Amino acid sequence: MSICKTLFAGGIVAGLLLAGAAQAQFPERAVTLVVPFAAGGSTDVVARVIAQKMSEDLGQQVVVQNVAGAGGSLGASNVARAEPDGYTILMGTVATHALNPLILKNKPYDAETDFAPVSLLVLVPNVLVVNPELPAKSVKELLALLKAEPDKWSYASSGNGTPLHLSGELFKAMAGVKMEHIPYKGSGPALNDLLGNQVSIMFDNLPSSSAHITAGTLKALAVTTADRAPSFPDVPTMAEAGLPGYETYTWNALFAPKGTPQDVVARLNAAAVKAMGDTAVAERMKEFSATIIASTPEALADHVKAEISKWTPVVADANVQMD
Ligand code: GLU
Repeated sequence: MSICKTLFAGGIVAGLLLAGAAQAQFPERAVTLVVPFAAGGSTDVVARVIAQKMSEDLGQQVVVQNVAGAGGSLGASNVARAEPDGYTILMGTVATHALNPLILKNKPYDAETDFAPVSLLVLVPNVLVVNPELPAKSVKELLALLKAEPDKWSYASSGNGTPLHLSGELFKAMAGVKMEHIPYKGSGPALNDLLGNQVSIMFDNLPSSSAHITAGTLKALAVTTADRAPSFPDVPTMAEAGLPGYETYTWNALFAPKGTPQDVVARLNAAAVKAMGDTAVAERMKEFSATIIASTPEALADHVKAEISKWTPVVADANVQMD
């Protein structure tokens, strides 16, 4: 009997050890990091910098997969419905986890309950950029142009329900001007058209526009954050440029599907936090004036809640609703 008991107990211990060993091995194969916007946009740029560093720590490739569409909600829903095993994760943004849920009437997922938060990585400024051919070199001149020719101008964004869409609608509402909104599947394709001057005005995230601003192929009229972006100290804030109280920004955060085991979330969190602590990563983020956060999963859950509350009245004031 006692041998039986011992064997039984031994079996449990062995089982636990085996289970522990199996989990400790995560990841055993490549991890797919879904970027819910097209290649070349801000989320893609940030994801690729981080994926490379996370791969080194995890000992497995973190492969970026662009699943663009519906302002980020297509890629986000794919991850919400993926196997909760840590092998499919999302580079979420303020679009997928605060604005889409507020702006889209048909909500494909619940931002708060359908995901296991992993880490809030960075806060990213947005920027109003124009093609240098546009006959407006400041926000003041742009407002004069839009008032003089109210039906002529359009602005590009990374899609409906994104911070760039909200930035444009907030700009229009606060300044009392008209501009048609042209949504793209991400900043990447929108930037292509802005550089080709098929569209002359765009709200972008700084990580995707910064190289073009530095090269002079795009002109930055204002950043959308409360403070100036340290890497572009000459670019005024929207408030300084004449719209006091104006503020939008973006953030990037990692999410796994709801139900992902806690130790897998912890392993992904550790790899993400380590990646954000890397000097080369920090240097890249500095170029974009992105603020590194590298939070705990719990802090990301709180952040999502707070962001939804923060943007609810702003979205209502800017009067943006999409099907
Ligand atoms: N504006 C999008 C967002 O932050 C990202 C655009 C992009 O990465 O292409 O939600």
